[in-house]
Amino acid sequence: MTHSSIFIYCDDPSHSRRQAVTNFKAEPDGRWNEHYASTAAQGRRESGQTIGANDSPLEARELSRRGLREVIEAEGPFRSRYRLECRRCKRRPVIAREEPLFAVLTRLTDTGLFEVSLILLAATLQRQSEATRADPEPGLG
Ligand SMILES: [Zn+2]
Repeated sequence: MTHSSIFIYCDDPSHSRRQAVTNFKAEPDGRWNEHYASTAAQGRRESGQTIGANDSPLEARELSRRGLREVIEAEGPFRSRYRLECRRCKRRPVIAREEPLFAVLTRLTDTGLFEVSLILLAATLQRQSEATRADPEPGLG
């Protein structure tokens, strides 16, 4: 199993060079973990937000107070939503649930792309959601 990672950056024309946004690293179970792009960003909370079964965000302190297992037992499996944003220009933030985001990261790295701009990431997420909504059986339209 290869351990891929992908670097996400902002290439907004207002920057003289591209700005690091964040990194994701593939885990053996197919999930992706966020790793900060620069040491300057350490100590900042992750882009991901944990969403409970009722779609409400769970506070990190609630998670640590109640404990992960108790929260899962009470609220069912939860997932994360990510808001990926350039800290410098804050333009074009990418907001995605972990399922489509992880699927896109896997697809990009499968094709050999290990660096992606926020713009390309947003476009790829958009294409994927359109493909998911489209009729899965070709030739019926
Ligand atoms: Zn930017």
